[in-house]
Amino acid sequence: MPRPLRPLPTRPPVPAWKVLLPALIAGGVGWGAWHAATRPANPPAQPGAQSVSAAQDWETLRTLGPRETGSAGNARTLDWAQSQFEALGYRVTRQALPDRVPMPAQREGTVHLGGPGDPQTLTGEALIGTQTAEQTGTLVRLPPGVTDAQLEGLLGRLAVTTCPDGPWRDLTDRALNAGILGLVIVNDCPHPPAYSPLGNVALPVLSVTPEAGRTLLAGVGREVTFTTTVRTEDAPAWNLIAARVEATPDVLFGAHLDSVPGSPGANDNASGILAVLHAARQAAGTPLAGRAWFVLFGAEEQGLLGSRAFVHTHSYPLRDTRAMLNFDMVGVNAESLSIDAHPELLTLARRVRPDLRTFRDAPATTRETFGRSSPITGRSDYLPFKLVGVRTAFLHRGEDPHYHRATDTTLDPALAADAATLGVQIARAALNAPWTPRQSCGITGRDCQ
Ligand SMILES: [Zn+2]
Repeated sequence: MPRPLRPLPTRPPVPAWKVLLPALIAGGVGWGAWHAATRPANPPAQPGAQSVSAAQDWETLRTLGPRETGSAGNARTLDWAQSQFEALGYRVTRQALPDRVPMPAQREGTVHLGGPGDPQTLTGEALIGTQTAEQTGTLVRLPPGVTDAQLEGLLGRLAVTTCPDGPWRDLTDRALNAGILGLVIVNDCPHPPAYSPLGNVALPVLSVTPEAGRTLLAGVGREVTFTTTVRTEDAPAWNLIAARVEATPDVLFGAHLDSVPGSPGANDNASGILAVLHAARQAAGTPLAGRAWFVLFGAEEQGLLGSRAFVHTHSYPLRDTRAMLNFDMVGVNAESLSIDAHPELLTLARRVRPDLRTFRDAPATTRETFGRSSPITGRSDYLPFKLVGVRTAFLHRGEDPHYHRATDTTLDPALAADAATLGVQIARAALNAPWTPRQSCGITGRDCQ
């Protein structure tokens, strides 16, 4: 008879806590180590970085090339500016703009003078904002200061004019309204025209050299064909944000980094880059560094795209921002240093510089609210801040003759540094002034009007 089966002796089961507790501890230690390793940290300040002058900065910056959005010079300037801020002990982040920016990549134009047995093709440059188009018609000549009355009756014609008296955009609008199918501007202007995106103009519009213009003017009355080929390429753009890790954006120093196509962008706006860098240098190692952000905006020239994206992304920390100081064209004294500022900031600025000139920036937009509207103006990166109720000050030395032209090649770094010094003084005054945080503005913003 077999022995009855007996269960083999077994170990008592391990209590759950003996497994879970070490796992929890290991997990906690691992998380802590990962957190410590990836926590943002301020880079170590480099010795000597604070004694670099704006003039020395300019010597480097001027060699990096034009900074139009998507260009190699733009990328080089981002890298250089980042290294400068980091040397001062600021942590730098880059905010990619949500959309790539369409930039003109090709803009060619031709005029075909189809004389029987005598075909001739002239080449020119399609203006930015025109589209690929082709039109054929009889060529007429417009006088430089052509009136609307003179444009009447030109429906269906193609027109040529020498350097227009007024803005090119105004002429193309009036030509379009008169039913003209295409326009050639003979660029015999004493100053080459400023970069002026025409917006979307449904006309072939091109500029030609005076030499090509002579041939064309000799063909008035003949049938001609205007052709434009315009291609854009989508370019990436970034905002560069420099701040101590612990810093709150109680004050914000900003300038746009990009330049317009066809201009080296010295005064517009290498001068602003120098000013923001100089302000960061003055703030380094002082309490201001703990309460300031320094931002170089991308794609300002394409419609304040960088500053709009910045305000959209950082709306919460900006709620307590006391001053946004914007530097645009501060390196050439077309006028003495001028300010367009919120009245409270203007009062503080006047205490520092009683003779500071004020101006009102050109209107750019109107803020609509239910039942009320108030004009909010600005043609630079402080406008998006104004629109969300941040107090702004725009520092500017007026529009010099080289604005948006190939000749914008020089600036005085001392003037940029001077604007930065004033900005730092205004910032310190704003931080010392009594401050009541803003109320919530409600959905429409009307409570803050
Ligand atoms: Zn500018």
